[in-house]
Formats: sequence, structure tokens, C-alpha cells
Amino acid sequence: MDRALKALGTTTISSMAEETITVSCAGDSQLAAEIYNHLCSKVGKADTGYISLVEDEIGIDRRSTLTKDAVRQILDSFVRSNPERLKNHQVIESGDIFVVGIVAEPSKVDALLTCEFCGYFTPYQEDLFIHKRMHAGGGG
Ligand SMILES: [Zn+2]
Repeated sequence: MDRALKALGTTTISSMAEETITVSCAGDSQLAAEIYNHLCSKVGKADTGYISLVEDEIGIDRRSTLTKDAVRQILDSFVRSNPERLKNHQVIESGDIFVVGIVAEPSKVDALLTCEFCGYFTPYQEDLFIHKRMHAGGGG
């Protein structure tokens, strides 16, 4: 989970108060506005007053009837209902914070093997071995 959060880059999470459930959209304030509208459409009128939107962050006051589970379900359904646009987005839960954003592939780049001679890289040990022979062999 930590790695997934890091993959989203530097998300500024300002409202860490325990009384609030925060939904961060990782810098995408337009997405935040859409999720905000979606949330408000799912809750009763009394609850909309407890939901606030500030740039890319939505704060949900614990005094509302929304539970974390409910928020998560609403976020999940929102992401799933926009498969074209949000196909790479995921809802990541961390404490009282939900992050809706693009999760990078689990760092495959770290697992790549690199040729120290030319910077060629491959995930396969065998490929690298064959490649390096090319350097060693010289052109006959
Ligand atoms: Zn090489």
C-alpha cells in the first residue's frame, strides 16, 4: 500500500484530522469535483453539508451518516462506472484517507537488468547474457 501511494507522486494531504474522511484525487481537481458531485448525489440533503471540496480534495465530516465503507463503495462504483476515462485509476485506502489516482505498474523498472556497457536493459537474465556476449565478442 505504501508503494502504491508513492507511485502517485507527491500528493499533499492537508486535512489529516481524525474527524474527517479525506478523498484525495492526486492533483486532479476536475476529477475531485466530479466525485464530489457523485458523493452528494448519493447522500441525503442533510449530509451534503458535511462534504466539502477544496481543489483536489474532498473532506467528509464524521458527523455525516457516511461511513468509510460507504465512501469506499461510492468511490469504487464511480471509478468502475467510468471505465474509459478511469481505467487506470484505483481507490487506495490509507487510514482515513482515500486516494483516487493512477497507480503505476508495480515497479517493473526496478527489476530490469541493465548492461553496464551501453545501458541496454531487459527483465530477462538470459537476454542480458546474450547481449553482453555481443560486447565481448567484437565483430569477428
Ligand atoms: Zn550493452
